[in-house]
Amino acid sequence: MKGSAIAGAAYIVGSPALASSIRRSVIVIGAGAFGGWSALQLLQRGAKVTLLDAWGPGNSRASSGGETRVIRATYGPAGIYTQMVARALQLWQESERQWNVKLFFRTGVLWMAGTDDSYERAALPLLKENGIRFEKLSTTDCARRWPQINFEDISWSIYEPDSGYLAARRSCEAVLNAFLKEGGEYRQAQATPGPINANRMQGISINPVEILNADSYVFSCGPWLGKVFPVLVPIITPTRQEVFFFGTAAGDLRFTEAQLPVWIDGAKHRFYGIPGNHWRGFKIADDARGPTIDPTTMERRISDEGLAAARAYLRLRFPVMAGAPLLEGRVCQYENSLDQNFILDRHPEAENVWVVGGGSGHGFKHGPVMGEMVSNAVLGLKAPPLEMSLSRLLKKNST
Ligand SMILES: Cc1cc2nc3c(=O)[nH]c(=O)nc-3n(C[C@H](O)[C@H](O)[C@H](O)COP(=O)(O)OP(=O)(O)OC[C@H]3O[C@@H](n4cnc5c(N)ncnc54)[C@H](O)[C@@H]3O)c2cc1C
Repeated sequence: MKGSAIAGAAYIVGSPALASSIRRSVIVIGAGAFGGWSALQLLQRGAKVTLLDAWGPGNSRASSGGETRVIRATYGPAGIYTQMVARALQLWQESERQWNVKLFFRTGVLWMAGTDDSYERAALPLLKENGIRFEKLSTTDCARRWPQINFEDISWSIYEPDSGYLAARRSCEAVLNAFLKEGGEYRQAQATPGPINANRMQGISINPVEILNADSYVFSCGPWLGKVFPVLVPIITPTRQEVFFFGTAAGDLRFTEAQLPVWIDGAKHRFYGIPGNHWRGFKIADDARGPTIDPTTMERRISDEGLAAARAYLRLRFPVMAGAPLLEGRVCQYENSLDQNFILDRHPEAENVWVVGGGSGHGFKHGPVMGEMVSNAVLGLKAPPLEMSLSRLLKKNST
């Protein structure tokens, strides 16, 4: 990561001196993983912050909704994210200690490589460089350790013992509680951007007649970013994603976190899962992008085809679970940027407006680090990483 745009990032913690010198007012729109953490960290750096959300933090339409999310550091050659995860693991654990609420579950993460293992091989030096503990395991080692998995067509695996999963909706709520406790203002309201004059947005309207003004506006509206700013429609696409929770036999611990880590299948299937999953069942999901949807109006009912594919996957990789009953299903959405990388940049036509999003199916774990980056950028303390610029996507879209 040396030489990257966030190498040695100024992870400045709020200090009274800094707080008294800043006093900027910021409205954050969207209280999901990105907006909630951004609001909290802006507040901690001395800003006066109002956080708005149309339906609430981690609501059932939001990309941050639902029970759990994976936190892993294996990221192929995309070095920026491994470094961010190293920092995020630290921040999640510090926060849960400070707030006295359990948010991180250190189950370990097993990343299985297929025949083409270039992604996994590229990940190893970055894991090392960023101080992430890992083991490189042969299939024989894996089969001995986790006999409940069929390692057919897996070539080798990376095991991260210090990674695991995060409570999703519960974390959004914990972040909001911390934000309120530290003096932030939260309102449940839908925001509409105001007019832009002379490169500045002139306030936002809510509900629908009240106008709110601030020095800066952070739009962290996840899959709704294209609805809020039509210029973003071509570069952020919300896709339908289905999640399945299967029931294990009573008292059988083989498919709970007592005996199985979080796993990701990097071979041809790209399924991943969270065993036990906070007692909700054996969670599995397909990471392949589904059809484009509208996050407001989509009916969230799992499809017969999705369920059949999940069962076929269980038959292959977890044969004992092949006949397990479906306990629950969820339909969520990824908010995919054109290159699957995040966005943190000023609006191209309004210098007091920041656009934050493009989590692309892997954003949740990075919430606290995005919060640091957003607050540093908005308060002028540190420029955001070039990798997250809007111009890279607008350029891509125009070619
Ligand atoms: C099924 C699934 C599995 C995933 N798995 C993982 C994983 O294992 N690990 C991982 O790290 N990430 C994972 N992700 C991705 C991650 O959850 C998302 O990238 C992240 O939660 C996005 O957060 P966000 O704050 O950008 O968006 P959101 O959580 O969608 O938040 C946006 C908020 O904005 C509000 N809003 C929108 N428009 C307005 C408006 N006009 N006015 C007011 N409020 C508004 C919404 O109500 C919403 O609460 C997964 C996502 C899904 C769907």
